[in-house]
Amino acid sequence: MRELEQRIKSDGVVLSGDVLKVDQFLNHQVDPDLMFAIGQRFAHLFADNQITKILTVESSGIAPAVMTGLQLHVPVIFARKHKSLTLTDDLYTADVKSFTKQTQNKITVSKKYISADDHVLIIDDFLANGQAVFGLLEIANQADLKVEGVGIVIEKSFQPGAQKIKDQGIRLESLAKIKSLANGQVTFVTEQHD
Ligand code: 5GP
Repeated sequence: MRELEQRIKSDGVVLSGDVLKVDQFLNHQVDPDLMFAIGQRFAHLFADNQITKILTVESSGIAPAVMTGLQLHVPVIFARKHKSLTLTDDLYTADVKSFTKQTQNKITVSKKYISADDHVLIIDDFLANGQAVFGLLEIANQADLKVEGVGIVIEKSFQPGAQKIKDQGIRLESLAKIKSLANGQVTFVTEQHD
């Protein structure tokens, strides 16, 4: 998605540890026009999949997920993050190691909001090692949901998550694919022309 790549080039900041900071439009300040366009793109890509729910994880997945839900007219559920949990009877839970904070969290979704007849689209802001997506897939598996695919705003293709998802036979659609963040420079896998 060209508009997104241009924004990453102009406002993204490469940090050490192969982290791209996009606080200017996605992770802290949010650009609603760009998020709307992102939602439109995901909705278009998954228009034929009879999606009934969008699943994401708090907090940075919420903006693109809500915009996608708005276009597909389906509810958006964000998994919550907890350090530890005692009562989990009415929750689906999975363990996720945070890429940026290097902490271990449990993510949870209430059993009330997903059921076996749901067709789910998983959305997240970034894909690195795939921990967040695999946590959501684990919850989808517990709930016996049909996962129609995964939509990622920014995929860091040089890290293993993308290949791991594709190896499971799951459809992955990433709107910007980063080949490298070496030397503080963002290089995309292919420059998009739309
Ligand atoms: P993964 O679980 O795939 O290893 O990492 C994805 C999660 O970590 C995303 O939900 C995102 O919040 C965070 N993340 C991973 N890489 C980056 C990055 O380069 N920049 C930012 N801002 N977040 C990242």
